[in-house]
Amino acid sequence: MIAVLLAVLVQQPMSWPQHSMERPRPVRVDPGPAGPAAAVPADAIPLFDGKDLSGWRRQGGGAARWTVREGYLEVAPGTGGIESSESFGDVQLHVEWAAPPTPEGEGQNRGNSGVFLMGRYEVQVLDSHGNDTYPDGQAGAIYGQFPPLVNATRPPGEWQSYDIVFRRPRFGADGRVVSPARMTVFHNGILVHDAVELLGPTSNRRRDPYTAHPDRLPLSLQDHGHPVRFRSIWVRALE
Ligand code: MG
Repeated sequence: MIAVLLAVLVQQPMSWPQHSMERPRPVRVDPGPAGPAAAVPADAIPLFDGKDLSGWRRQGGGAARWTVREGYLEVAPGTGGIESSESFGDVQLHVEWAAPPTPEGEGQNRGNSGVFLMGRYEVQVLDSHGNDTYPDGQAGAIYGQFPPLVNATRPPGEWQSYDIVFRRPRFGADGRVVSPARMTVFHNGILVHDAVELLGPTSNRRRDPYTAHPDRLPLSLQDHGHPVRFRSIWVRALE
């Protein structure tokens, strides 16, 4: 009886307050070792090829000032988030990331960054390997809304992948939501979100309603003050 009740509660996001520490933790699943950087499919748009930051700018304007070295991109803490110069709507997105090899801090303060579809719908990047936090804010969470189905996080310093199928929200002429944003996410090849419908844009310690926005917007990566690394970022436009 209690097990059934618990299973029902886990599946009902609205029954848990945002950022609840009481919420059951997703089960840990070892995804196995990281492989080499994924190849870019022929019809994909490469957003970071390991060489330079062309195709990116600082969020809010100016040049992107993150560090490029040895084939990867690293957050330069305090320089601000970055966004793609190109804008996208519905996409398949591949992105690889690694938390800093030497873990520092706890909870949200360890290896935090984020992948923001359309600059507003975040798949959380966090070092969630032996690092507890509220489940809707751990690695692979749709931040502040949905914990991942399982915790597939590799140890800090190791490369990890997100494969995301994102469907943008559709708005009517009156600005109201016709269909919400939808995401399917694989973390290190393991399903962590199965076509979930987002409750609105990402926000911290509150839930904001949808507001109408353009059909295409830049993809952005978060500067949360930690030197998180990225490589092999590409998108396939689905529209
Ligand atoms: Mg984040």
